[in-house]
Amino acid sequence: MNIGLSEENIDRYARQIILKNVGPTGQKKILNAKVLIIGGGGLGSPVSDSLSRAGVGRIGIADYDKVNLSNIHRQSMFSSEDIGKYKVDVIKKKIKLINPKIKVKTFKKKINKKNIDKILKDYEIIVDGSDNFETKFLLNEFCIKHKKFLIVGAISKFDGHLFVFNFNKIKAPCLRCFYQNMPPDETLNCEANGVIGPVAGIIGNLQSNEVLKNILNIKSNLNSNILIINLIDLTFRKVKFLKKRNCVC
Ligand SMILES: [Zn+2]
Repeated sequence: MNIGLSEENIDRYARQIILKNVGPTGQKKILNAKVLIIGGGGLGSPVSDSLSRAGVGRIGIADYDKVNLSNIHRQSMFSSEDIGKYKVDVIKKKIKLINPKIKVKTFKKKINKKNIDKILKDYEIIVDGSDNFETKFLLNEFCIKHKKFLIVGAISKFDGHLFVFNFNKIKAPCLRCFYQNMPPDETLNCEANGVIGPVAGIIGNLQSNEVLKNILNIKSNLNSNILIINLIDLTFRKVKFLKKRNCVC
C-alpha cells in the first residue's frame, strides 16, 4: 500500500501513525510543518527534543546565550561537555542525532522590534520559551498582526503557565488581555526565584503537544483560558479570561 511515506518513516513514527488522530496523513502534515522556538533554555530544550522526535520537518530556534553550568539541572538538551557553547549550536547537533533528516535553522539573536519580522516570517507556528515579558509581549503583538499561532510558556519555582493563541482563526483574548501591565522581570527570573527542573519539562512538553494538535487540526480547548500548574499541590487549573477593551488585540 502506498501511503506516501518512506519505509523508514513508517517504522520511525509507527507508534504515532497508529493513532486515529494522526495516521499517515497526519504524519505527512507533521513532516511538512515548520515551527519556530524562541529561547533554547528550560522550555526550548523539551520543545525541540519532542518536536524533532515527532518528525516536525523544519525547526527554527532562536537564542543568543551560551550553556552554563547552572542551566543543566533543567535544560535537558545540554550536558556538562556543552558548557561555553552556543545553545542553538548544541540543540541543532542534538536534533541531528535524534533525526538527521530534520532541517534546523538557528538564529543567534535576541528577538527585538527590528529583527522580529526577518526571524518569524517563514513560520506559522511560534513557540515562546523566553524568560522575559518584553519578548513575550513583542511576540504577542507580532503574532496578532500577522495572524500566527503562538504558544506561550512560563515557569518559576514549582509553577507553570501555558497559553495557546490561534490568532488566525479565533477572536479570543491575547497575552496582554491577561497581563495588562508588564510584570516585573523577576517574575520569570530563574536566577532570582529558582525553578524546579521537572516544571520545565512538563510545560515544554505541553507546548509541543499543542503544536502537534495544531498541525493535526485538533482543536485546543485552551482558547481564552490559561493553564496554571503547581507541582507542590499537583494542581492543573484552567482559568478563563476575557478580552480587554483597548488592548493591543
Ligand atoms: Zn488583548
